[in-house]
Amino acid sequence: MSKKKRILSGMRPTGKLHLGHLVGALENWVKLQDEYQNFHLIADYHALTTDLDSNSIYQNSIEMLIDWLAAGLDPEKSPMFRQSQIKEHCELHLIFSMLITSARLERNPTLKDQIRDLNIENVTYGHLGYPVLQAADILLYKGEYVPVGEDQVPHIEITREIARRFNQQYGNLFPEPEPLLTKFARLPGLDGNQKMSKSAGNTILMSDDSQTIKNKLRGAVTDPQKIRKGDPGRPEICLVYTYHQKFNPEETQNIEEGCRSGALGCVECKLKCSEKIISYLSPIQEKRKYFENNPDIVLDILRDGELKAHQIATQTMSEVHSLMKFG
Ligand code: ATP
Ligand code: MG
Repeated sequence: MSKKKRILSGMRPTGKLHLGHLVGALENWVKLQDEYQNFHLIADYHALTTDLDSNSIYQNSIEMLIDWLAAGLDPEKSPMFRQSQIKEHCELHLIFSMLITSARLERNPTLKDQIRDLNIENVTYGHLGYPVLQAADILLYKGEYVPVGEDQVPHIEITREIARRFNQQYGNLFPEPEPLLTKFARLPGLDGNQKMSKSAGNTILMSDDSQTIKNKLRGAVTDPQKIRKGDPGRPEICLVYTYHQKFNPEETQNIEEGCRSGALGCVECKLKCSEKIISYLSPIQEKRKYFENNPDIVLDILRDGELKAHQIATQTMSEVHSLMKFG
């Protein structure tokens, strides 16, 4: 039997996960876990790039792990671990930081977006180096595929460049990983922003209750030309229609026709949409409760994931050392 290809992907533990994380990345992880050998990283060092308060990072990491398990990640197939517990990430990051110029990192469009969205005045050395640490995260496990949202694609390109540079300089060790995108690689936010994102405050959380989801959807931005029922709308520019495509695929054609003709009003359309999202999330939230009530199981899963990750990480670092003639 041929060896399974490896996937490495992670998320920053910056708070509760939202639908963008779920449909842009997490669902892909779950779907791919039989075909590939998955490794999933809780990027707690990366969380420091936008928030230095480390008090909440541990708690957020556990909450995020519970969201992952609730979404269907199976710890037997997919080890899950914290970046901070595997010291080899830092070591490989340091070596990689010699293989890329600061000018290249300054051109990173994802960094530019973050600086704009979060009003960052002075970028730290570590934030500039975000993709270098990410390259270490991926290549430490020789990840060949990286299932992420669209905002991460420029980072994967940097990982490929670093892998190439290392291989040319020291010998062939690392694969050049490729991103794996879902159909909803950039889920829009409730305010009409192109990306649902915590910092923009335009999210529906995986853990939101029914009433909260209904309220949030009621306030969602729609086609500004469709003011009342009867006015024809343009589904292609409406984020609620995008949500229908994901969470209510059986009815999208009816929704589209109703919107265009004006027969379907936004209030009714939003209500239908919130009901679909609520039922979509219901089994996930059920599972979440189980893990919330069994914290020992969650911690065991983390410990086990960290043991498995550490084995691979030490193996790769000994190969790196030997190629670099570090002894
Ligand atoms: P936020 O922007 O809400 O703070 P984040 O971008 O900081 O979240 P990350 O840990 O950087 O969260 O991203 C986790 C994964 O989720 C990445 O693969 C990212 O591409 C994906 N992702 C985040 N938001 C969306 C979205 N709106 N649509 C699709 N994928 C998304
Ligand atoms: Mg991000």
